[in-house]
Amino acid sequence: MGDRIVADFRSDTVTRPTAEMRAAMAAAAVGDDVWGDDPTVLELQEEAAAMFGKEAALFVPSGTMGNLCSLMAHCHTRGSEIVVGSESHICHYEQGGCSSIAGIHSRQVPNEPDGTIRLTALERAIRSTNASVEEHSHPLDDHFPVTRVICLENTHNRCGGRVLSLEYMDAVGELARTHGARLHLDGARIMNAAVALGVPPARLVQAADSVSVCLSKALGAPAGSVVVGSAPFITKARRARKALGGSMRQSGVLAAPGLLALRVMPKKLEADHRHARQLAHAIVASVKNMSEPAYKVDLESVQTNMVYISLAKPVAHAIVKIMGKSGVLLGAEDKHTVRFVLHHEIPESAVEIAASEFAQAACRAHLEGTS
Ligand SMILES: *Cc1c(COP(=O)(O)O)cnc(C)c1O
Repeated sequence: MGDRIVADFRSDTVTRPTAEMRAAMAAAAVGDDVWGDDPTVLELQEEAAAMFGKEAALFVPSGTMGNLCSLMAHCHTRGSEIVVGSESHICHYEQGGCSSIAGIHSRQVPNEPDGTIRLTALERAIRSTNASVEEHSHPLDDHFPVTRVICLENTHNRCGGRVLSLEYMDAVGELARTHGARLHLDGARIMNAAVALGVPPARLVQAADSVSVCLSKALGAPAGSVVVGSAPFITKARRARKALGGSMRQSGVLAAPGLLALRVMPKKLEADHRHARQLAHAIVASVKNMSEPAYKVDLESVQTNMVYISLAKPVAHAIVKIMGKSGVLLGAEDKHTVRFVLHHEIPESAVEIAASEFAQAACRAHLEGTS
């Protein structure tokens, strides 16, 4: 981070490893993880499995690969389909890898603004059950692929970092089971959800057959995700990881900060959520005196570490540019939307600065009128 940068709100991926993480990296015991003998990777996998209440875990280089390995493990027969939210990360930001690489058809159903997918819409989208195809008890219509997996995302990135409730997660798990499908959870930010709900992570993901968890977002590790699930599922996911080129050798140096990400960093997420609310409230307050509001924030949507702001005019890129000059970095999601993401490197003092810089930049961009 250069001298002129006051705070980087573009994403929680910008978090750099802490001094404790760097020390742990230097001291990590390592081996060749392709041979299964890197002790630090094994320790990370055991701890992640225990934390999420599953049998086994797999360390992967990224969240994108975590999702893809999981879907490949669940959909190992050709002609498989996943049912997935239209606003999901899997659909928007993973290059359609599940189809282009893994040959999986994705059936997209609308996400509600709160990040859920209606149970009735999910049920309607499921074409067949695994059991019915495998047992030939109800011959599958020749027209259809076989729905193997329902995917959820918690917290939901494009839906404002909103949290899916425990009740909803359980209900979708039940629906999946009833239809012989699996539930995969893109839990890149599942620890933010667990902290926001005050529910133990293992309980929150109880209904999911697989979960992909990012260590390198608000949890602060330099790289990596873990996938958790049953032992047979992890065996398949491990094969998929190798085929995708994601198996690493002395990756204990990356697993060591990953362990700290799981042990230490969740305690810090509550502060990120509080800072997000403070930022949102300050921005809402700054609109009060405007005759014509230049922007608005839906306070209800601010449930974790993200603040999405809707702009009256298409000036998102102009605002990002103006603020960049004063060292406050944020993201333009589209012409009418900017996003602040809070994380442990952003102190409370930077929140106040960001709110006032934003009000000034947004008013200026609004008056000038275009991006
Ligand atoms: C970031 C993210 C991913 C992908 O993680 P990468 O490590 O960037 O590949 C997947 N799902 C969600 C919801 C994310 O926010």
